[in-house]
Amino acid sequence: MKLLGLGYVGLNAPDASAWESFGVEAVGLMPARSQPPGHEDDGTVFLKMDERLYRIAVHPSKEMGLGYMGFELAGPTELEAAIEEVHNSGVAIDRGSEPDAQARGVAELAFFRDPMGNRVELFYGQSADYNFQSPANVRAFKTGNLGMGHCLLFVPDIRQATSFYMGVLGFRLSDFTAGGKIQFLHCTPRHHTLALAELGGANGIHHVMLEMEDLDDVGRALDRTRSQGVPITADLGRHTNDQAVSFYAGSPSEMSVEVGWGARLIDDIDWSPVQFGGDPWGHHGLRESIRELAAKIEERTAG
Ligand code: FE
Repeated sequence: MKLLGLGYVGLNAPDASAWESFGVEAVGLMPARSQPPGHEDDGTVFLKMDERLYRIAVHPSKEMGLGYMGFELAGPTELEAAIEEVHNSGVAIDRGSEPDAQARGVAELAFFRDPMGNRVELFYGQSADYNFQSPANVRAFKTGNLGMGHCLLFVPDIRQATSFYMGVLGFRLSDFTAGGKIQFLHCTPRHHTLALAELGGANGIHHVMLEMEDLDDVGRALDRTRSQGVPITADLGRHTNDQAVSFYAGSPSEMSVEVGWGARLIDDIDWSPVQFGGDPWGHHGLRESIRELAAKIEERTAG
């Protein structure tokens, strides 16, 4: 199947409303719709980053971290084919009801669990209101045919996770760290839409990355994050593989949000994956943040 990128993510947080200050005032996202008609307002916080109705939904929950990832398809034919492919791989997949589709603001969707238990949704026809204006004056987030960004997931078995996302969902290999414990996968020209990392037995999410069109907007987001007392989980730095300049902010959902700029685009025609080492500069705290969160998640799931 041909995924058109990450369309939306659902996150969990005990205090979802904390995302209104974190997401809007620090990161620079725009508050989006409330619950659709007929749906009870359960305190979910919706955030926009472009013309789409919303890209991030934060649900009040006792859980932390990832609720679901929504990957985009081109239309009803592609959704039917994708349902068939997931089903034929031996994974149970359900069609979303009309209220499910309304809740997500899409035309149609289907959902299943990946081998790690993460809820994955496939959809087409996300609603757009062509209305984006960041209250913090972020000029624009880089989305379009690249999707909304990328996720880094902790997976207990890197081989199993990689072969599922590549074999069943059609992701292709971008790069990997020496030793192969972190694999970067793409489904659009964005260098990676999904990064999978094996760190002990941790199963969860480390970050969602959002890209800005303007480096100065990343700098201003860093200033706002600092002045609001939001923890900076990794300082400004550049990644070796996707070449993004970014920093990481600790969100109210335990995971981080990576705010970046300048990530490279890749083309399958001439792309050749490499194994690589550390970042050329900056990102101080990133390794520690990854290790600490993995340990915390592992401890929680064990306990
Ligand atoms: Fe990242």
